[in-house]
Amino acid sequence: MKQKCIICGKTYDVNRPLWEKVLKPKNTYICELCKARIQYEAKEAQVPPKPM
Ligand SMILES: [Zn+2]
Repeated sequence: MKQKCIICGKTYDVNRPLWEKVLKPKNTYICELCKARIQYEAKEAQVPPKPM
């Protein structure tokens, strides 16, 4: 089935497992690229700012 990534807006052809449809009925999809980017940015945000 076609899924539109909510981050980059690209459409991907993916097979979503049934449990995901049940747990996430809002049909939000994030592609692997954006997922990796979000994880990277989250990691960056966790780094405390350097003391002056
Ligand atoms: Zn994306």
